[in-house]
Amino acid sequence: MAIQQQINKFIHGIGASSGIVSGKAFLVERLKIRLPQRRINSWQVNEEVERFLKAIEESKKQLRETKEKILDPEVRQHAFILDVHMMILDDQMFVQNTIDHIRKRKVNSEWALDLTLEKLDTAFKTIEDEYLRERRSDLYYVSARVFQNLMGRKLDDITKIKGKVIVVAHDLSPADTLQMNLNQVAGFITDIGGRVSHTAILSRSLEIPAVVGLEVATSLINGGDLLIIDGETGDVVINPTEEVSRSFVERKRRIKFMEREVLKYASLPAETMDGIRVRLQANIEMVEEVPSAKAHGAEGIGLYRTEILYLNRKELPTEEEHFQTYRKLAESISPAPATIRTLDIGGDKFLPDYSKGNETNPAMGLRAIRFSMKETEIFKTQLKGILRASSHGKLRILFPMISGIEEIRRAKAILGEVKRGLSKSRVSYDRGIKIGAMIEIPSASITADLLAREVDFFSIGTNDLIQYALAVDRINEHVSYLYEPLHPAILRIVRMVVQSAHQAGIPIAICGEMAAEPLDVLVLLGLGLDEFSMNPVSIPKTKKILRLVRYEETRSLGEKLFRFSTATEIKRYLRGWVAERFPGEFRTFFPEELKA
Ligand code: PEP
Ligand code: MG
Repeated sequence: MAIQQQINKFIHGIGASSGIVSGKAFLVERLKIRLPQRRINSWQVNEEVERFLKAIEESKKQLRETKEKILDPEVRQHAFILDVHMMILDDQMFVQNTIDHIRKRKVNSEWALDLTLEKLDTAFKTIEDEYLRERRSDLYYVSARVFQNLMGRKLDDITKIKGKVIVVAHDLSPADTLQMNLNQVAGFITDIGGRVSHTAILSRSLEIPAVVGLEVATSLINGGDLLIIDGETGDVVINPTEEVSRSFVERKRRIKFMEREVLKYASLPAETMDGIRVRLQANIEMVEEVPSAKAHGAEGIGLYRTEILYLNRKELPTEEEHFQTYRKLAESISPAPATIRTLDIGGDKFLPDYSKGNETNPAMGLRAIRFSMKETEIFKTQLKGILRASSHGKLRILFPMISGIEEIRRAKAILGEVKRGLSKSRVSYDRGIKIGAMIEIPSASITADLLAREVDFFSIGTNDLIQYALAVDRINEHVSYLYEPLHPAILRIVRMVVQSAHQAGIPIAICGEMAAEPLDVLVLLGLGLDEFSMNPVSIPKTKKILRLVRYEETRSLGEKLFRFSTATEIKRYLRGWVAERFPGEFRTFFPEELKA
């Protein structure tokens, strides 16, 4: 059934990365291709096998050419994914199975390959071939290429499209996102996902507008439709009328003006009206983001997520690669500090040969420090790299997903072992390097008083803390209405952890996305947080807000919020407080925040 063209159709999702952009839709929904299914005669079999093998060869050639064409070193470092795709094209399961279907079932290549995919899909969790099992999304990506070559269609070759496109997908993993030619991507929209899914976080890092959790995007949108997306409000318009386009252009102009105004705050200190200095730092995913972090006024890197170093590649990063990357980080942000978080793989980020893509409950599975404890050699390699780089700047180490004392002690013991090894080999490193624990699991927050004796600092990861405390999957759009940073439970937990940290005399940071929300930041300041780390773009606006208030008044605001028993009441009170305290100012700059 042909999909009807939609005119001026509004759909609403979750704003994941702000910015208003328009462009032609580029569908990466791989299964959308309608496949021709034909039965063939015995005498046509050899010819059909030839046709299939030719499409495989053609696909390999295209991948090789694409790889050669990538000159940008930043993009090139992610190009090994193309090698992975070439390896799939050589895989016996993939090729031989399809040939068998052509021969035995006497069907055309498209049908035969589809049967192979079907078989692989149902058998995915149990097939012997570990490599294929773990690369399900790549398998579909490669298959789409083969289908297109068989059918003479080149629809998804993004490089052939003129101008920037809006990528429309059912789902995009961080790995999927990185393998696109990002110079041609104006925005992303997806059916599934939440505001704090890692793909959403990555799109903010890349400063590419995105809307997630649209549920129906891939079923309503056709490739080539004109789209407008608003990454702030989560609105998407399919084939807008001129009048609607104009209203978006107008809103975009207003936002740009505000952004320019807010950017003036980047170079000012983050200081409240009564003189309390707050350290504002940046969350980054790639060392290449350091200049942007500095330009937005970051006073250091509060969270360097190291996962991207491991994604989209067959080999693990070597110690030398870790060292060079962290050294570059330390030197480029120096004299300010940088906090490197050890590998937090798992959940919605997989490592092909290690992560168990078939875990029933990956968010609670072999993730982060648990993975590092199991794969200690991988962990040690990373720690060595960090330690070696620590003599080139001011680095701190942060362990993710700590659930209790024994885990942190074990991580420290391994770190001690690595340190001793380096000392023995006379390799220099910062012997006083500070160690921190992410507080993102309820058990860690409840035992924060005990954990505080074991580490030099805490960093609250509200993205996961909210997910685990409220039992709300952070990437599931169906329950995103329950994902509530200002839930009384979250405020109680944060207050408790801050008290534990301060009683033990250690600083406490927050590096979850909550730190960048204009209203929430007032609450967090009032609860006593010392440091805030957020996506670079949010730093100037946060400075602006901090410079509007007195620390003392946020402290009493923080206390007052404990009188309320629901997030709705808390937000209502907060909006009223802000509207009264900053009439005009807040409304002008953050109108969306004041809407109920
Ligand atoms: C968090 O959980 O809040 C956090 C900062 O880490 P991530 O989003 O990478 O899980
Ligand atoms: Mg986390």
